[in-house]
Amino acid sequence: MITEKRPTPPPSGEGEPKTCPECSGRGWTDNLCVMDEHEYRCSYCDGKGFGAGGKECYACHGTGRIEVRKTEKVVCPLCHGAGVYPVPASMTASEFAFHPSHTRK
Ligand SMILES: [Zn+2]
Ligand SMILES: [Zn+2]
Repeated sequence: MITEKRPTPPPSGEGEPKTCPECSGRGWTDNLCVMDEHEYRCSYCDGKGFGAGGKECYACHGTGRIEVRKTEKVVCPLCHGAGVYPVPASMTASEFAFHPSHTRK
């Protein structure tokens, strides 16, 4: 019996992989909860700068504001780090735009 070569079925619908719209091809997104390098109101003292009894707020040191920097890189939920979407099945992990092992500190 001869097994015929089966042609790889073309990816249905989506067409060719394009730069991922979610991460702009970076493969990761900024995990920004608030604003990057921006101050926001201290939640411990509600922005007053002091807590109960008029003591200086230990969290914001009396400023009423807390500097928020939450810029952790997270793997793009859409392309899973590939940087393109849809991700070609032939794409290997080393070709991905996001390399968790290469994360700079
Ligand atoms: Zn405070
Ligand atoms: Zn992406």
